[in-house]
Amino acid sequence: MVKLSAKCIVAGDSTVGKSTLIQLFRSDGSHFQKNYTMTTTMDVIVKTVQIPDSGDQVELFLCDSPGKPLFYEMTETLWDQPGALCLVFDVTSEASFANCARWLQRVKSKTISPQLPGVLVANKADLTGRRVVDKHQAEEWAASHGLEYFETSAKELENYDEPFRALAKMFHHLYYERLETFRNLL
Ligand code: GDP
Ligand code: MG
Repeated sequence: MVKLSAKCIVAGDSTVGKSTLIQLFRSDGSHFQKNYTMTTTMDVIVKTVQIPDSGDQVELFLCDSPGKPLFYEMTETLWDQPGALCLVFDVTSEASFANCARWLQRVKSKTISPQLPGVLVANKADLTGRRVVDKHQAEEWAASHGLEYFETSAKELENYDEPFRALAKMFHHLYYERLETFRNLL
């Protein structure tokens, strides 16, 4: 059995639901926070994910970051050498989707590796009447940037842990790929 650790940056504009998704994942779906409290510092939540059919585990260090620029500057240094990226936007906010490009660029500038396992999460899928970001458009953008796409509703506990499980799997896969490359060099 192998146990890996991955530093996972959870990025996106403020109020898109980053902290809510992380807390739900941590508590296995028993903690939906209705009252909004802005994250002002970097919170790190650790959760171990079992990788199916392998007996291996990936310990995710989820770095919950504040979305406001002022706080972002203070915590940016903690983003060094990310192992995975969870990029979140709110389907009722066009701006939060448009800003994903900037968040992606910021995180990529922190990594030296050309491959960074990443997912794009379209959250608040329950708010169908207020939805402004088209699924196809978001899916295409994700694919063109090598990100796996998920639609979630933290409120209705829908798919909330899938993005994190996918990231753990991708990280695990990349680890074995690199190990293989390394062995072939010997
Ligand atoms: P963050 O700033 O990205 O960390 O956003 P939060 O996790 O603090 O969430 C901001 C607000 O959106 C809170 O009031 C949450 O209850 C609400 N929220 C989060 N996820 C969902 C969702 O899937 N659907 C709906 N309707 N509200 C959500
Ligand atoms: Mg937050």
